[in-house]
Parts: sequence; C-alpha cells; structure tokens
Amino acid sequence: MACWCAGGHLTADELSDTDISAHSADIDIRREIHQRLDRISAVFHQSTQFKYVYSPNPRSATEKVLNFQPATPKDLPRLNSYLSIFELEISKYPDQFFRSIGLKRIIFVKNLFYKELPAQGLYNDSTKTLYFNFSDTRGGRLALRHNVHHEIYHVIHSHFDINPDDTWHNLNIPDFKYTHRGRHHQVVATQSENYFSPDIPGFVTDYAMTSAEEDQAEVFACLFIQSQSRLMHKWAVKDEVLANKIRFIKQALLDISDQVINESYWHELNR
Ligand SMILES: [Zn+2]
Repeated sequence: MACWCAGGHLTADELSDTDISAHSADIDIRREIHQRLDRISAVFHQSTQFKYVYSPNPRSATEKVLNFQPATPKDLPRLNSYLSIFELEISKYPDQFFRSIGLKRIIFVKNLFYKELPAQGLYNDSTKTLYFNFSDTRGGRLALRHNVHHEIYHVIHSHFDINPDDTWHNLNIPDFKYTHRGRHHQVVATQSENYFSPDIPGFVTDYAMTSAEEDQAEVFACLFIQSQSRLMHKWAVKDEVLANKIRFIKQALLDISDQVINESYWHELNR
C-alpha cells in the first residue's frame, strides 16, 4: 500500500520540533488512548516506545524530509479508532514475536508526508522508528489494516536476513524488472479487494512491482488479512509465481519465529 520506506535519510532529531506534551483537551478519550497504548506496548519489547504527536495548538512539524502534524483535540476520536485497528492487527502475531525485532519506537501522527508525498506509514531504519499516519483513510479500513502489516514487514526485513542469496528475484517471470520508481509510489486504493489488479504473474498489487522488498511486504500483509489471504491463495492456484512467493514468505516466518508461525498458525488465523 501507499507508503514510503525510509532507508536512512532521517536523523535522530526528527522529533525535535514536535509537541508530545500531555496537554489535556479531552481527558477521557486521551485516557482511553493511553490505555490502548499501554496494552499495545505490552506486546512489544519493553524498550520500545509508543507515542502520538499531540498539540492543542498545532503547527506542522517540519523535519529534513519528513512532515507531519500533531493530533489536535478534534482528532482524538480518529486516533482512538485507528489505535483500535492497530491493536487488533498486532494481536495476530504470536507471543514474544515483537520482542526481538529491533524496533525502538512507534509514533502515530497526522498528515504524514515524505517531502511533498503523502504516506500511510514509513519505517526509518536508521532510527528504528515506525510512523503510522492515523489520518490517512484512503482505501478505508481494509487499507489501514493491510498497511500495519506492510510496515511491520519492513522492520522484519531490516532485522533479519530474509533474502540473503536473492532467491526472490528468481521467483519472478524471466525478464521482469522492478520499477524502483523513486522511493515512494502512490497507490489509489479502493474499498474492496479489487485493487488487486496487476496483469503480471506473481503480484498481488501494482505497488508490489516497485521493488523486491515492497513485493515481499505486500504478500506478507495479505497473509494477515483474511479476505486478502483467501483471494491471494485462490489466485495462487493458477499463478505459480505467486504460489512460490507465498511459500517463500511463509518459510522465512517459520524460520525467524522458531517454527511458531507454521501452517496451523495460518490456518487458525484465517479460518
Ligand atoms: Zn513499503
């Protein structure tokens, strides 16, 4: 899905101009948000920080290449709603899974942009920070759910040696080349699974054709969303390239999870 995946352009001071103080505009809903964040953080490593950027008097936080805005009091219901989705999606992972993936921070922001380009999420590998844009509702709830997993894949990919001998490239049809259309690619997502549309074997979305890592992230994300997983597996019956990619990602997850993410895990998740 639409995302921009940082490769190290950003610096550690990227939050220096933001207001994350505990200003109280709506105490009840902020309490609920904090309770959600407490529950979410319990799933991750104890050193992983969770924040949302908030200010009752917003000004854009402009960093070198990253732009976003703080949540204002009127945004809190939407942030809370986003966190309910986020909480549900990360509950799909096995116990302990997030404790050893090297993630330092997750930050929820509004109107996230990389330069002038909107992003639903991004991962900055140099600071081990994941950003999620709670205000980006393009593609509806399904796209938001999918994007949680998509971004988590980037963390996994940077932490583990998922494709050491570049086997992935050999899975594609001969002569296929990823487009590498810059570092950002905007997808116009629709409400249904119809945004699965590429006409080339082995791809679940157009965005998957941008790079091997984005391709892997898209297959990974689809595995965690029941409707998308069912459709992807249905396609894979007639698409051997896609079938092999699903097998590749499942094997990688089996390896990094000490066999916990196995076939019975997938069966249980998507039954
Ligand atoms: Zn991505």
